[in-house]
Parts: sequence; C-alpha cells; structure tokens
Amino acid sequence: MKILAIAEQREGKFKKTAFEITKAAKEIADKLNCEMVSLVIGSAVESIASELGGFGATRVIVVDDPQLNYYSTTAYTKIISEIAKKESANILLLPASQIGKDLAPRLAVKLDAGLVSDCTALKIEDGNIIATRPIFAGKIISDVKIVADVQIFTLRPNVFTAGSSNGAPATVEKVAVELTQADFAAKAVETKVAVGRPDVTEASIIVSGGRGMKGPENFKLIEDLADVLGAGVGTSRAAVDAGWRPHDEQVGQTGKTVAPNLYFACGISGAIQHLAGMSSSKCIVAINKDKDAPIFQIADYGIVGDVIEVLPVLTQEIKTLLGK
Ligand SMILES: Cc1cc2nc3c(=O)[nH]c(=O)nc-3n(C[C@H](O)[C@H](O)[C@H](O)COP(=O)(O)OP(=O)(O)OC[C@H]3O[C@@H](n4cnc5c(N)ncnc54)[C@H](O)[C@@H]3O)c2cc1C
Repeated sequence: MKILAIAEQREGKFKKTAFEITKAAKEIADKLNCEMVSLVIGSAVESIASELGGFGATRVIVVDDPQLNYYSTTAYTKIISEIAKKESANILLLPASQIGKDLAPRLAVKLDAGLVSDCTALKIEDGNIIATRPIFAGKIISDVKIVADVQIFTLRPNVFTAGSSNGAPATVEKVAVELTQADFAAKAVETKVAVGRPDVTEASIIVSGGRGMKGPENFKLIEDLADVLGAGVGTSRAAVDAGWRPHDEQVGQTGKTVAPNLYFACGISGAIQHLAGMSSSKCIVAINKDKDAPIFQIADYGIVGDVIEVLPVLTQEIKTLLGK
C-alpha cells in the first residue's frame, strides 16, 4: 500500500488544501502503516516543495516544467497517472477543488480506480479506508468503501484541518515526465486572479446575501461586514439569476461547496440546494425576517429581523469589538 498525495499550487504558492491533503495523507499512512509520497506539479515550483515537510510529508516528487505554467487537464492527468504507476501508489488523495474535481474522474479511468469524491472524513476499519461523504444535496451522509485495488479520494476543502507547520524538512525529488503538444489538448491561455476578498472556497469566514437583500445596491452591507472580518462574499442562486452578483460567488448545488469556520446567511431562505453547498460550515449565523425560514433549522445563531437594518449594526458592533 502506498499513498500519493497531490498538493495543489497556484502561481508558485501552495493552496491551503495542499497542507490539508498532506496532513490527512500522513494520518492515513500512519494508521495503515504504509508509505506516502507527495506530488507537486507546475512551473518553478521546486523551491516550495519542502514546505510540505511541515505537514507530514517526508518525500516530495516535483514535476517542474515551464509548459505547466497554467493548469492543463490532459497534461496533469498524464503526469499523475504516470507517477502513480511508477511509484506503485494505490491510494490517491486530491482536493475536491475545481482542479481536483476535474482530475479525479479522469485519473480513475486511467488507473482503473474506484473514486469517492468530496469526502468530509476518512477513517480506517479492518485495514480499509472508509470515506464519509454527503449525498443527495447533503440530506444523507454516507460511508463508502472502495473495493477496487486503486482508490482515489477527493477531500472537501476546509474540512480536514492542516494546523500549522512544524517546520520539518522533506526530501525533494525532481522527476521529468515527457510532455508533447498532444498532452495539452486542453490548455488554459490566461488566468485572471480576483483581487481583494478571498474566494469563498478558501475563506475561513463567508458573508452571503440572498434575495432578501432586495437589490444589488444593498450588497454593500454584505461587503462592509465581509471587509471588517476579512471574509469572502457569497451569494445564493436567486441573487445570481437576478444579475445582482457574479456566479463565482454562488454557494450551493450548482455553485461552490464551502466549509468555513463561520458562515453568515443574510436574507437567504435555506433552500436545500443552497444548504448543499454550505451545511458543513462550522458555525452558521442566519439573519432573516421570517422566523420560520428553513435556514434557522441549521443555524447555530439566528437573528429575526430586516437585514438592511441588522447588518449595519452588526458590522459596527464587530468593528468595535475588533478595535477597528
Ligand atoms: C437544480 C437546482 C440547482 C440549484 N442550485 C442552487 C445553488 O447552487 N445555490 C442556491 O443558493 N440555490 C440554488 N438553487 C435555487 C434554490 O432552490 C433557491 O431558489 C435559492 O437558493 C433561493 O435563494 P434565496 O434564499 O436568496 O431566495 P429566497 O428563497 O427567495 O429567500 C429569500 C429570503 O430572504 C428573506 N427576506 C426577505 N426580505 C428580507 C429582509 N428585508 N430581511 C431579512 N430577510 C429577508 C425571506 O424571508 C426569505 O427567507 C437551485 C435550484 C435548482 C432547481
């Protein structure tokens, strides 16, 4: 048995999920008493690879190639499947990020593997990995065991805790994988990095607004609270469909899945499709004028009131508390 942990990076910086995956892989490796190896793919990424040592990696393979400046579905699939075969790794861990969700099914086909996606917990029973994952938009929590020899798991970001680095070193090995034009059948030509607030999939606090915000102009209240807390801004599909907010902020079944430490749902009813994307948030605060809104059933704290009145007061109180 051997684990291959894929550490995602963007522009030469590890995503938080890279540390979460490394830590989770190390814990599983210890329990199964097996080896683990981490894999970093990109351009000019060799220098960051040893950072994974602080989260439990002892050996890190780096595929560093200028052609990999941008993520490429086809090239990454080739690299990971080749390294997995070369290393005889039979357990692959990836983040359930945009990239991980794209890669995992392709890898499953290439490696003839079983795949469990969007796991929220992993445990060992009788020497097997049992993965927990929410299904049916979060209505059912299922425990799944893969029976295939090669097993792939994608882990929901922000659920597995990485903690902080213990500063331990790791051995870094640069490995070349031959890539031809044919390996770049799909290629990103440009990336635009959103500046300012963190993306909802990475934010540890999210302030989300829905149709109850009444119009795009009132999202200034959401942004004000988000900025005081250093939070990301999220939204419901109703607000996106109305053209009030961009789709990349949408949380839910057809938006992004998030699991922050703190989630504010402001003027959001709590439809099952919205809950599918945020119900694993660690603490949920709902503001809604309807005391019977379904969101209150999963909220840890609820404020029954008009968001337009409540938000400025809340923002001011938090500002005062934080001494801002
Ligand atoms: C296939 C499918 C996929 C979907 N995917 C998603 C998805 O990914 N994400 C998503 O969010 N939805 C998704 N939906 C839509 C979902 O079913 C709901 O329609 C949507 O979540 C509702 O958004 P909302 O809560 O903002 O609006 P509403 O349901 O209209 O709720 C607005 C809430 O605001 C409250 N309110 C109104 N005025 C105020 C005020 N002044 N102060 C305080 N509260 C106020 C109301 O009481 C109400 O609870 C999907 C639907 C389908 C069919």
